Amino acid sequence: MSKPLFFGSEIYRGSSYGAWHPLRVPRVSTVMDLSRALGWLPPAQYRTSPRAKAQALSIWHTAEYTEALVRAEADQSVSDAVRTRHGLGTVANPVFPEMFRRPATAAGAALLSGALLGAGGVIYHPGGGTHHGFPDRAGGFCYLNDPVLAILSLRAAGAARIAYVDIDAHHCDGVEHGLAGDLQTLLISVHEERRWPFTGALGDDGGGNCLNLPVPRGLNDTEMAAIRDRLILPALTGFAPDAIVLQCGADAVSEDPLSRLTLSNNAHWAIVAALMALGCPRLLVLGGGGYNPWSVGRLWTGVWATLNGHAIPDLLPEAAQAVLRGLAWEKPPQAWRAPPAHWFTTLRDAPRPGPIRAEVAERIATLASRPAASGKIPE
Ligand SMILES: [Zn+2]
Repeated sequence: MSKPLFFGSEIYRGSSYGAWHPLRVPRVSTVMDLSRALGWLPPAQYRTSPRAKAQALSIWHTAEYTEALVRAEADQSVSDAVRTRHGLGTVANPVFPEMFRRPATAAGAALLSGALLGAGGVIYHPGGGTHHGFPDRAGGFCYLNDPVLAILSLRAAGAARIAYVDIDAHHCDGVEHGLAGDLQTLLISVHEERRWPFTGALGDDGGGNCLNLPVPRGLNDTEMAAIRDRLILPALTGFAPDAIVLQCGADAVSEDPLSRLTLSNNAHWAIVAALMALGCPRLLVLGGGGYNPWSVGRLWTGVWATLNGHAIPDLLPEAAQAVLRGLAWEKPPQAWRAPPAHWFTTLRDAPRPGPIRAEVAERIATLASRPAASGKIPE
């Protein structure tokens, strides 16, 4: 099989959602810079994300919404009616200079990834993972829903059975909206309970094809490994998908300001490695949340290393350290005003093991007893 492809774009480096928005921080550009500094991103493995045309988005998004988004970028303002109808120009989804072009770039890479993966392979698209977008509405920092677009593109390219796994700290409400009840698609989401968007309850099975696991604050690496081994891997093995899409949001780690989960990045890398070991012919790994510029850059660079089988050095070479030292976090939360040294010198966090709490074990067992957890989606 050919080497994994990385979809990136300079648009992520030069754009911001605004001075106070969590997405004011650099993310994808850090992964590109760190990977290059480590010699892990030769030109043959890099592709510049194409920007999706409005027409191409119409396989899932409404034309009315896409037109409103294009117009909002051109006008740099929205009417009250558009704000109410489409969720544009809000605190979470503000008007900003690239508010159509940036999400359309993530959507373009998702659509092209699906098409390219028709022939099989592994693709990494850290600018993707915007799982809160709805057909006619922005939500939760997401203007479009590139995971759903990728899944539809994969299906058009010949992947019949598709598994979507989401380990972002937030529930994938937009993706579930798109996939619930689809018997050829298995959705698995692990997310913090009692956190926005407050969907994805344990009992919500989306008509049979969705496994939603809300987890309590303080989720540790040992608990995530149990979720991986007792729920995610058996469900995928039973379902035997033609394609796996992983939304690998980086906001479930201790250093993230938007969740209260306490994973280390080892948990994410172990899941990536375990999905690769399943031998599915098509694997697409997306980004997602992640709002601490150091933790997201280190985590997602480690994902790329894992996809390529590169050994992660204990101490980063000087050129890679320079990338991390060059990051800025304007107006960081109080707890992180003074970044610890290992954010500059390493990719790998110290592991964060812990007990498997009874409530976590019980919820895993509840889901594991469902037909979908053996890959059998009831009609
Ligand atoms: Zn998130």
